Amino acid sequence: MKTVRTQRRIGVLGGTFDPIHIGHLVTAEVVRLEYGLEKVIFIPASSPPHKQNVAVTPAFHRYIMTAMATYSNPHFFVSDIELKRPGPSYTIDTIKALLDIHGSDTELYFITGVDAVLELPTWYRIRELLELCHFVAATRPGSTGRIDDIIEHFGEIGRAHIHRLDTPELEISSTDIREKVKKGLSIKYIVPESVENYILKERLYR
Ligand code: ATP
Ligand code: MG
Repeated sequence: MKTVRTQRRIGVLGGTFDPIHIGHLVTAEVVRLEYGLEKVIFIPASSPPHKQNVAVTPAFHRYIMTAMATYSNPHFFVSDIELKRPGPSYTIDTIKALLDIHGSDTELYFITGVDAVLELPTWYRIRELLELCHFVAATRPGSTGRIDDIIEHFGEIGRAHIHRLDTPELEISSTDIREKVKKGLSIKYIVPESVENYILKERLYR
């Protein structure tokens, strides 16, 4: 008899999304397929804890761009949960809220790029967070060694709840996109067309 997995698996991709780009979208889709996630929720941060001293585009614009970039994928959703919450956007608060909404036996997979995973030891209440959800470190063969060090840093819970997944990591960052726009360079094909048009129309990053 086939065993049926009853536990729901949901992916979460948190970020500043200033702006959202193809790197985020490809990563989310690869992780979704690999881990059999029923959906991936994109969660723009209102006030990223690690970007407290950096100017970030108003959440309103970042939310709209994230919604436009994800709408054509029936498995992608956007949540304003962090935008509604005052103060810094701590992932542990978000994960707890999602477990309340979707049921405490839901397996949440928090999707991150290499840079974010390497910083995990500095995250707010990280050990408690690791107990509550899984992390998927989307990486390219090459940065695997450093991720393994992070997994070992957390010991047993690290080995059980931090997963490494080789993805076709694209050399794309929002920082690079903002710089390109400032210089008047093309950002075609590194963001969805709708996002490109929105950035030009609203004159963002000038
Ligand atoms: P910035 O340059 O402003 O920091 P970013 O491109 O890193 O922007 P974020 O919104 O900071 O985008 O990232 C959200 C999450 O997406 C993080 O976990 C980050 O590691 C991951 N990520 C960003 N770019 C990529 C990429 N090209 N491939 C895989 N993951 C990525
Ligand atoms: Mg970043």
